[in-house]
Amino acid sequence: MAREREARVALLLGLICLAPTLLAVERPPGLGDVREVRTWSYAEYTRVVVELTKEVRLPEQGLIRLAADTRAGRPDRLYLDVPGIWVGRRYESGIGVGDGLLDGVRLGQNTLRNTRLVIDLERYGHHRLYTLPSPARIVVDVYGKRGRSRGDSGGRLPTELRRVHTVVVDPGHGGRDPGATGIGGLREKDVNLSIAKKLAARLEDRGFEVVLTRDRDRTLTLEERTAAAESSGGDVFISIHANASRRSRTRGIEIYTLDANHERHSLDVAARENGVPAARLDPLQRALARIQVGELASQSERLASLVHENVIRGIQQRNRSLPDLGLKKGPFYVLFMSSMSSVLVETGFVTNKRDAKLLRSAQFQSELAVQIADGVDRYRQQIEAGPAASARLAKGAAGVRRGDGIR
Ligand SMILES: [Zn+2]
Repeated sequence: MAREREARVALLLGLICLAPTLLAVERPPGLGDVREVRTWSYAEYTRVVVELTKEVRLPEQGLIRLAADTRAGRPDRLYLDVPGIWVGRRYESGIGVGDGLLDGVRLGQNTLRNTRLVIDLERYGHHRLYTLPSPARIVVDVYGKRGRSRGDSGGRLPTELRRVHTVVVDPGHGGRDPGATGIGGLREKDVNLSIAKKLAARLEDRGFEVVLTRDRDRTLTLEERTAAAESSGGDVFISIHANASRRSRTRGIEIYTLDANHERHSLDVAARENGVPAARLDPLQRALARIQVGELASQSERLASLVHENVIRGIQQRNRSLPDLGLKKGPFYVLFMSSMSSVLVETGFVTNKRDAKLLRSAQFQSELAVQIADGVDRYRQQIEAGPAASARLAKGAAGVRRGDGIR
C-alpha cells in the first residue's frame, strides 16, 4: 500500500512538473464542493441531505430511477446529476444507511463538472426532491414501507385514524438567528421562546405529550427542527413566531397553513421566516405544486381554523385591541418539512409599539398560550370523535381565506 501511495505521489509530482494544464483538468475552476452528507430515518420516510458550498440548479428531470442490476450487484436505485459540483472520490464508497428503506448513499464525479448522487434502495414508494438555501442543500425524502421494522412502532397509523397525543411546539429562530428585531430591541426569538414555553405548560395541563424543538436560546437548522418533530412521533406541529413590517403602524395576529401561494403578503412573511428573498421561494413553490398533501392539508386547515377561532375570541373577550389579520396560506419551509398537521402562528408585530408592548407582557403571552392550547384541544376532540362527528363539529368553523395584501 505504501508503495502504491509513493507511486501516486510520484505521478502527481510528475504531472505538476511536466504539465500544469493537466492539473486544471483534475478540477475545473468555479465549481462548488460537497460539504456534508447526512441521513435521517423516520417512520414514514428517510431523508437524505447533501450540503453544498454553493447553490445549484437541478436538472428538470430530477431523480431518475434505475432497476436493479443483478449482474453488477447494484440494487434498485435513484440517481441525480448535480451540475457545477466537485466531489472527487470522497464519497465513492458511499454512506451505509440500511434502515429497511435505503441501503445507502453514494456520490461520485460523473463528469468533470457534474457530481452524481446515487441512492441505493431496499424499498421504494415515492420520493420528493427539493433544495434549501443558506446553506445550500439538496434534500431527498424517500417514502416507502420498510422491509423490516425498526423499533417498536413499525410505522404510523393512517392519518385519519391517528390520535392526537404528542404536540411539537417550535419556537421560531434562536441562537445566531434572532428573527425580527423590533421596538426597543425586542427580539423575536425571545418572544417566541417565552410564548412557546407557556404553551407547552398549558398543553401538558390538558394531558398532551409536548416536545419543544428548543427550550433555550440556541441555533437550530431546519433539519434539526424537523428531526425533533418526526422522531418524537408528533401528531401536531405548532411553530410560534412574531411578525415584522417596515410600516410601524401594521399590527395584529395572523395564522398560517402551508400552501404554494403567490399572494404578495404571504410571500413576504414566508420569505422572512424562511430566511431567503421572496424571489428565491420559487423552487419550494414548484415542489409544493407537485405534491399531493390532501388529507394532511385539510387537517392542518382544520387545526389552524380552530386555533384561530380561539385566539381571536380570547383576545376579544379580554378587550385586547389586537386586529385579526386572518387565516392564511404560505410557502413555509418549516411546515413543508414535517409530516404532521401543522400551523404557524404570527403572534403580533415586534415593529409596532402597541403589539410590542403586548408581546413583552407575561400576562398577554399566557392568554395567547391558553387560547392556542384550547384550539389544539378542540382539534383533538374532533379527530378522536371520528370522521363523521368531526365533519359535523367542523361545520361553522371559519374557512381559510387568502391573504388580503395588508401591506
Ligand atoms: Zn419568525
